[in-house]
Order: sequence, then structure tokens, then C-alpha cells
Amino acid sequence: SNEEDASDEEDEEKKELLTQLQTEIDRIKTVTDSRKLLPVYAFRKELMEAVDKNQALIIVGETGSGKTTQLPQYLVEDGYTQGNKYQIAVTQPRRVAAMSVAARVSDEMNVVLGKEVGYSIRFDEKTTAGKTILKYMTDGMLVREFLADNELSKYSCIMIDEAHERTLATDVLLGLLKNIMKKRPELKLLISSATVNAKKFSAFFDNCPIFNVPGRRFPVDIHYTLQPEGNYINAAITTIFQIHTTQPLKGDILLFLTGQEEIENTREKIEEISSKLGSRIPQLLITPIYANLPQEQQANIFQKTPDKCRKVVLATNIAETSLTIDGIKYVIDPGFVKENSYVPSTGMTQLLTIPCSKASVDQIAGRAGRTGPGKCFRLFTKYSYENELEAMPRPEIVRTNLSNTVLLLLSLGVKDLLNFPFLDKPQISTLTKSLENLYVLGALNSRGQITDLGKMMCEFPCEPEFAKVLYSAATHAIAGGVLEQCLSIVSMLHETTSIFIGSKKEATARIVSEIDSDHMLYLKVYEDWKNSNYSRSWCQDHKIQYRTLLRVRNIRNQLNRTCIKLGISEKNLILMGENGVPENLIGSKVTKSFVSGFPLNIVQLKSGGYQTIGKSKGGLNVNIHPSSVIFQNQKEKGKKLDKFILYQQLMLTSKEFVRDCIPIPTGTWLVEMVPQIFSNLNNDK
Ligand code: ADP
Ligand code: MG
Repeated sequence: SNEEDASDEEDEEKKELLTQLQTEIDRIKTVTDSRKLLPVYAFRKELMEAVDKNQALIIVGETGSGKTTQLPQYLVEDGYTQGNKYQIAVTQPRRVAAMSVAARVSDEMNVVLGKEVGYSIRFDEKTTAGKTILKYMTDGMLVREFLADNELSKYSCIMIDEAHERTLATDVLLGLLKNIMKKRPELKLLISSATVNAKKFSAFFDNCPIFNVPGRRFPVDIHYTLQPEGNYINAAITTIFQIHTTQPLKGDILLFLTGQEEIENTREKIEEISSKLGSRIPQLLITPIYANLPQEQQANIFQKTPDKCRKVVLATNIAETSLTIDGIKYVIDPGFVKENSYVPSTGMTQLLTIPCSKASVDQIAGRAGRTGPGKCFRLFTKYSYENELEAMPRPEIVRTNLSNTVLLLLSLGVKDLLNFPFLDKPQISTLTKSLENLYVLGALNSRGQITDLGKMMCEFPCEPEFAKVLYSAATHAIAGGVLEQCLSIVSMLHETTSIFIGSKKEATARIVSEIDSDHMLYLKVYEDWKNSNYSRSWCQDHKIQYRTLLRVRNIRNQLNRTCIKLGISEKNLILMGENGVPENLIGSKVTKSFVSGFPLNIVQLKSGGYQTIGKSKGGLNVNIHPSSVIFQNQKEKGKKLDKFILYQQLMLTSKEFVRDCIPIPTGTWLVEMVPQIFSNLNNDK
């Protein structure tokens, strides 16, 4: 009868609910149990006593021992947030690490990501005001928080994680924190570091104690090549297949590479070979991880390897210490890393592939011995390891352009840059060059004091150069009337993953028949997409990455909000008049806005080629990258060579390439926009 049916149904429902509940209880039990298995757990009591007794504490422990995921939870559990009165901040040098660790910890705490546990990285914040008590964030984001609250009073504890990486932002943070610790005696500072740097950090914070969490590490067999490898990618691929075909299937492989492009190319090659071998070998599951990997793909590296399959993780040095991947038994280490190197005398930054330091190479080998004995294949010689590698990597502060940092410190009221507590002092020539650059941009006056424009530039969540572009785009006396357009272009330039599916050239042809610059192409893409009502099908039809454009729109909204906050957009609206800027003037106004922001990124046509100006005295010969619209226009459509070109990126590799370019038809625009630099320019050349 109906009644019986109904009670059957109820029973079914109850049963299902009970099963669900049991699954959830099991999950929580597993999580709780696995938390207790981590090496830091055995020291929980001693650790928390040390935190209680000391304002600053250095924590050293093997990767994977639970520093990043557990310590902040202990602080929460022990009441350091006083309910939700205070927050705990944990900084990470890398955005991917901040996001993925926050996700993991919210899972362990059984809360929704973005509520009690959140993260904050540039252009992407997942926190809830009044609710979030534990926030994982990039070191750069915490530096920026000093602008709004120079004592970081909402935080009761700050953990500077991966401090040994010595990113510029981490170094700046350490100096700023040292300054506020006296004013905030109740603030707790935890610094996690690899063993090699621990003493230096302790000395910096008045010899504060170093807490050592003994790790467990299984033995790792190290293999070297007998001769230096000519092509480490090929050597690495060969090694992968050797391992895969000769070693038992249980045990995943981690290969370290230098960057996104290298990772994607290597992945293609491995996939090609493995599809040729077909069913003769067990399946390989290839998962890349690098800083700009779209979020939706990041979780893949943590997925359990399916049966009858071997996982191969292709990673940048992000997997050296920031992320722990379980199940790795084989590590392949080519021994190279990409590093920025700034030359103050020329004002240029080179991205160089250089040999890793000994400290890094040792860390990397350790990744193979986390869950059992492992093997590390070094694609360099033992001689090289023992005699040629540097002991430690160079901190970023001594090898990077410091303009943004100098502007920020000045804006925070740090007047005496030379006496700021830097762990390692930057070069004086770099500081001087920064002051010079900031003066040219109008961020400083001739006495080296920060201007209103400079303060405004600091407020933007982007480099001061881009902020200047937006300011000029809105200001009639400079360019004016093209803020909307420049907002779109600047946002497109910020998105580091590719916008185009397949070749940029083909995608371009689908969108526009003729276009003068990469900047105007990006504008056209964004506007066409906007006119399609941000539709997914427009993206599909034109082979454009929909998700990438969604991110661009998000960046644009945030930049736009800053403009509104600073009153820049209103200025623009009033001056634009009712009909806006006439169509035919948009291009030139956009170009001028970019010149005002990037006056040092300009090359000049000289005897058939391009040379840098305003930088090195002699002038460096550069090539236009084949992906640029300008390259296609000049080389393939036979257009007249432009006299000057502004570029967004200069890559000094085997050949010097400029990327993302906009032509400047006449030198008078340069003189008009940046007379400080270009007043002597000979226009006839
Ligand atoms: P540490 O900071 O000391 O290197 P972590 O706290 O990052 O260590 O990691 C502790 C453990 O948590 C790791 O051994 C790993 O097993 C696990 N873990 C961390 N992040 C994740 C994740 N995103 N997914 C699955 N497991 C994770
Ligand atoms: Mg960690």
C-alpha cells in the first residue's frame, strides 16, 4: 500500500543520511589521524611554549613536516585569534602555494575556503570580512597591507613561510616587521626557513631562538651523469622512460624544469613518445605545475595516481620546498633555474638560465625521500656539483630593479633608505637608479620626495609604470580620454597565460584584418568580447581562451575600482565630452599614454634594425619577436619600418627579442611626453 511505500522511502532516506554521515565522520577521522602523523605534531606542545615565550621564533624542518599547514592551525586552536578578533597571516613567496595550501587547510579544518580560512594573492582575494581568521597570502600582498595599516594591527601572529627563498617582498617584510615589533610587543612572528639560512634570520631578530623539528627523511641514491649534458631536456626525457620501463610501477617521477614554456614543450614531447609506444608501456599521467598554471589545473598534481599508471610531475622550483607532493620516488634534476638579473648601469633586466645553487640541488634531492627510499638523477657531473655550483642562491634584492620597492618604502614614510634594516643591503647603484626612474615617471620631485602622483601610483595593485599609463590616459593635459581603452589593454597585458588558442597570428586574422600594434589587438579582442556580452561562444568561434578573458575582466574591474577611488575616472569622463575621443585619435592617445609610463622601454630604428635608446649608452640591437603584430606587418605585409617602437618585454636570451610592441611614428611624441629624457632626440634620424 501507499503507506508502506512511504515508510520504505523514509527508511531509504534515513539510511542514505546515515551513510553520508559515516563517510563524513570517516573523512574527518582520516584527516585528524593524518595530521597527527606529521613530524611537527610530536612537538606541538614545545612549539607552542616557544611561541608563547618569544616574540620571534625561527622554525626549521624538513619539507613536508607540517610547518605550513599545521603551525597556523595550532595558533588558531590555542586561541591566538581570540575568536575572530584577530587574524593570522601566513605568507608564501608563490601564488600557487598560497592558494593550494589554503585549500588544503580549509579542508583539514572542515570549513569552506574563503570563510574561516582564505587566501589573498594579487587580483584574487578569497576571504570574508569579519569571518576569516587564517589567511594565506603572497608576501607581496602583506607588504601592500602596510599601506593601509602600518602596524598590521588586525594580525596577532604573522608567519613568514619559506623565508629562505629570499624574495624581494619577503626581505622587505622582514625589515618592516622588525620596525613594528617594538611597537607591538604582543605580536607573534614565526619565520620558517631551510636550515642553511636559519642563523642569519635569528641574528636579524636579536638572536631569537631557532626551533628545529627533526624530520624524517629516507635515504636517496644520487646518480650523476659522467659527462655534462648538451641538451638537458632530451636527457631528462630519456631518463623518464628509462625509469618507467625498468623500475616497479609504484613510485612517481618529479622533473624540475625552468619555466612554463619548457614544461609545456617537454610535456608535448613525452606525450608524443608515449603515444607512439602505445600499450607497450604502462600509462603515464603527466601533470605540470608552475606559477601561472590556471587555477583549475593546479589541483591535478595532488591527485592520487590511478592504478596501473605512473605520475610524472613537471615542475618549476615551486616544488623544491613550497609544495609537497606525496608518492614521489624519483627526482630528475637538470640543475638549472631561471633567475632575474638587473644591471643598474643599463637599467635592463635579463632573465637568465643559470646553474642551481648547491643548497637548492640538495633540497631537490630530498624530494625523492619523503615517503620511502628514493633516487635522484642529477643531469650534471659530480665534479660540477662539488666544484662549480654556488653554495646559495643570490637573494632577489641584490639582483632586481628596486623602483617599486623604493616607491613603496618612501610612501610608507621610510626616509632613510640606506639605513632601513635590510637582511642584505641592496646595491647603492640600484637604489640611485630607482630614484632616477621614479623621478622620470613623476613619482618623485627633484628633491627626491614622493609626489601626489607617486602616492597615487602606490595605490594601484600594479606596477607604477602601468599606473602612470592609466593616469595619463585619463588626464587631458597628457593624453586624456582613453582611460577605458587603456584599462582594457593594461589588464590584458597583466594576464600571463595565453589568450589565444593555437597560434596568435591565426587568431588575430580571425578577429581583424589590419592592426598596428599588439596593444590595439588586445584592445580589439577585449572590446569584441565585451560587445558579444562576454560570451563564451564568441571565444570559441575566435579561438580565444574564455577563462583567461574572465580573469582579464576581473583584473580590469579591480583597476577600474582603484581609478574610481582615486577620482581618476571622473576626471576622464568630464574631459572626454559627450562623444568621447574621436575614433581616429584613440590610437595616438593610447600610444602617448604608454610612452609616459614606459619611457625607458623604447627602441629606435637605426640602419635597418632596432636599437635601445635611453638605456645603455652604446645601444643594444634587438629583434622584434615573431609573435608580435609588428613583426607580421613589417616582415610579412611589407609595411614601412616604424621609427620608434615601445615594448613591454625585453627578453635577453640567445637573441634579444622585444615583445608586446606598439609603434611610435614620430620622435616628437617622445619629446612631448617625456622631455626629461628625450629633449635631445634627433627627430630626423
Ligand atoms: P611543510 O610546510 O613543512 O613543508 P606542509 O605543511 O606543506 O609541510 O605539508 C604537510 C603534509 O600535508 C604533506 O606531507 C602533504 O602530505 C600534505 N599536504 C599539503 N598540502 C596538500 C595538498 N594540497 N593536498 C594534499 N596533501 C597536502
Ligand atoms: Mg611549507
